[in-house]
Amino acid sequence: MLRADFHTHTTYCDGKSTPREMVESAYRRGLTDYGVSGHADFSFCEPGFGMSDAILDQYRRELLLLREEYKGKLNLYIGIELDCLGPVQEAEYTIGSTHCVRKDGEYVPVDDAESDLEGAVKRLWEGDWYAFARDYFELEATITDRMPCDWIGHFDLLTKFNQDCRHFDESCDAYLEPALAAMKKLNADGVPFEINTGAISRGYRTEPYPSKILLRELHDMGGQIIINSDSHSAEHIAFDFEQAQRTAVECGFTHSLILVPGGGFCKVEL
Ligand SMILES: [Zn+2]
Ligand SMILES: [Zn+2]
Repeated sequence: MLRADFHTHTTYCDGKSTPREMVESAYRRGLTDYGVSGHADFSFCEPGFGMSDAILDQYRRELLLLREEYKGKLNLYIGIELDCLGPVQEAEYTIGSTHCVRKDGEYVPVDDAESDLEGAVKRLWEGDWYAFARDYFELEATITDRMPCDWIGHFDLLTKFNQDCRHFDESCDAYLEPALAAMKKLNADGVPFEINTGAISRGYRTEPYPSKILLRELHDMGGQIIINSDSHSAEHIAFDFEQAQRTAVECGFTHSLILVPGGGFCKVEL
């Protein structure tokens, strides 16, 4: 199994476990490379959510101490998960994610609560989930123009509440056309895409992001992947990487990327 995981959260944002509990758990699970990626300041959308610059400083200091402590046992990386519409804050690596869309002056989080999202789609997109999806992907396509990102986090996060396609059909052109346009643009910008098991560990979905249809297309475009858990608690580190790896292989990928100390990626065989 892959022994690396770089998209994880701690009590510095909405995670349940402290950095120490997360690092200990990563080490106990046999990971050789582990990264923490706290949410950047998200207060433009949800006041108080994410790390302010002052909290980010504290986060960095605590993780640097843990890095020293675990030297020789595990490589610890200090990252941040930026939001497409949020401020750019610095860390050793950045995940570029799109958690909300702006419509008619309103910020609409896509992964907060299903009933809120349903209400927003009804109100702001006249119930048209495909129009909502188009706006989401058109925004997501701009992320590399707005901020540095080492990879794209959960590319189709807007499907979090769409298990069994209960709100929209993820295989139809009305959905796939804007999704693939965004994927093509971002892939041309040279960023890898994450396979993310976070919605499985939290019981929302049975398969990782992105969908297999999108992953096959990514493979055919010559795209690259990195497998992450998006875990918000110590017991979910590297959650269901077996399925993520199976899915990647099924969609044609032979390698996943992992970060290496000092910056950059290397390829590991699946
Ligand atoms: Zn995220
Ligand atoms: Zn995350």
